[in-house]
Amino acid sequence: MNTIGLIGGMSWESTATYYNELNRAVSHRLGGLHSAKIQLISLNFAEIAHLQKQGNWYEAGIILSDAAQKLEQAGVDCVAICTNTMHKVADQVQKNISVPLIHIIDTAAKALQQKQVRKVALLGTQFTMEHDFYKNKLAEYQIELITPSAKERVEVHRIIFEELCLGRVLPQSKATYLAIIDNMANIGAEAVLLACTEINLLIQQDGVSLPVFDTTMLHVEALLDYSLGGNKESLGDNKEVARE
Ligand code: GLU
Repeated sequence: MNTIGLIGGMSWESTATYYNELNRAVSHRLGGLHSAKIQLISLNFAEIAHLQKQGNWYEAGIILSDAAQKLEQAGVDCVAICTNTMHKVADQVQKNISVPLIHIIDTAAKALQQKQVRKVALLGTQFTMEHDFYKNKLAEYQIELITPSAKERVEVHRIIFEELCLGRVLPQSKATYLAIIDNMANIGAEAVLLACTEINLLIQQDGVSLPVFDTTMLHVEALLDYSLGGNKESLGDNKEVARE
């Protein structure tokens, strides 16, 4: 089993989901007392959020690169940044390590492509919805983005930072998100991408008018495949190794 390096803490609410779901899935696939091999560096999100607000992405990239290098020195076989927003500096991080960075947007794009989704509604931080990095990466897969209106984007962002990152899950915010998803469905979205790793605390497939693609769970699945040997077909081998 390969060891997964997680750069987390952005926020720790979603990092807890990564940790729980990776372990749950390894236990499910391999059985018994098997659990995921993980090295975690959990950053102080206040420091990162401050740099985001200042637009100082380069400095934030240095902090994440430093974490990635420490994970590499600790012997991980791959690295994951447990937030969509900070994939703005993914290339900077990858340049500083030799193990692969399992990229959340590639993972999301492949899942959308597999279901032939060409136009996807995006929910995430304002950085994710408004800067170019997400749009450009999805365009490499011929996938077009639909984002909420300017006013809606402010509210989607506020709910992430003032509620979800603090573990507050409010029914009125769920209603707000559902209404915003409906608006994007009405202008041609074929599916909705939860492009923020905390949104699944609020929204799951139940009650949503569009098919839901959750980047957290897709990322977890990709990490798991990497850790257990690349694909589900090879799991038979892993099971044998696991029993030895
Ligand atoms: N976890 C969130 C994301 O996936 C937001 C936190 C951040 O700004 O990094 O984008």
